[in-house]
Order: sequence, then C-alpha cells, then structure tokens
Amino acid sequence: MDKIIHIPGFNLKITRRLIVDLSLHFFTTLLAAYLFYSITNNIIWVILVFVGGILIDTDHFIDYFLHLDKWDIHSFLHGHFIASRKLYLIFHAWELVLIIAISSLIFSFLIPLWVGMMIHLIIDSLMHARTTPLKYFILFRWKHNFCFDKFDYYFYKKQMKNLRNAGLLKEDEKVEE
Ligand SMILES: [Zn+2]
Repeated sequence: MDKIIHIPGFNLKITRRLIVDLSLHFFTTLLAAYLFYSITNNIIWVILVFVGGILIDTDHFIDYFLHLDKWDIHSFLHGHFIASRKLYLIFHAWELVLIIAISSLIFSFLIPLWVGMMIHLIIDSLMHARTTPLKYFILFRWKHNFCFDKFDYYFYKKQMKNLRNAGLLKEDEKVEE
C-alpha cells in the first residue's frame, strides 16, 4: 500500500496511499455534490460540500507550518511535520461534525458542510484509524496532548518509515526500530 510512486513529468515522489486517499475524497465529494445539486439546484450547496469534503484537509497546512518554516511540496506530501511528533488536525474532529449536524437543524445550508465532512472522516477513519478508532475525536487527541506517537504509535512509526525511505529525515529525527 505504501509503495512510492514517481509522478511522471515532475520531480515528485508520493505514496500510493496518498493517491488512493485523495481520489477517494474527490470522487465521493463529487458524487455528494452532484446529488445535492440535483435536489437543490443551489451552487452554494455544491461549494459547501467541497469545503467539508476536501478543504477540511487544509488543517494539514497548519500542522506543517507549526513544524517547518519553509514550504516544500515534497515534504508536505510525505507529512514531514509528523517528525515533530505532534498532530493537531483541528478540522478532523467528529465533535465538530456533531456540532455542525446539530446546527444544521436550524441552519439548513450547513447540511452539505456536515455531509461533506462526515464522508471525509469516514474515509479517513477507514484508511488511517483502524488501529485507533478514536483518532479523529479531538478530545481523544487532546487527552494525549496531541502527541502522534502516544495516541497512534502504529501509524506514527509507519509514517516515519515512509519519511526515512523518502530521505526526508534528519539524523536527530530518526526513530528507533
Ligand atoms: Zn483528511
């Protein structure tokens, strides 16, 4: 699953897992957008389902810049920021989905945002939280002080291995086997 792929025409290597991940998010969100548009004919609903289904991942940028001060697409795509051992992912939170779902009972325009986020988190949970089902609860991560190696050691080690294979780890960032 974690085979490194060279992107043809670019000086870029990413893991097969990332390609599967991004494609799943894109196509499920597209399907939800299509369904919402055919029901409501409202472009705002399409935009909001994309905000929930795709832009939720912008919190990776926050984690990236908390650890690294220079932008590098290669580092970003490999999740170099996890070398800091911290993983906040503030938008990846079932608590947030619940709050938006309850709010959508009053503000119906929040329904596509809620559905988009829910689909995204279901996919992320199936792909990345099989060993730690509570991973996408922000209270659970907070309880572990947002330390990735504490709340999901299995995935932390796996991603550190990917970083090492991509040649992105400095000596002092290496993990013991
Ligand atoms: Zn995600």
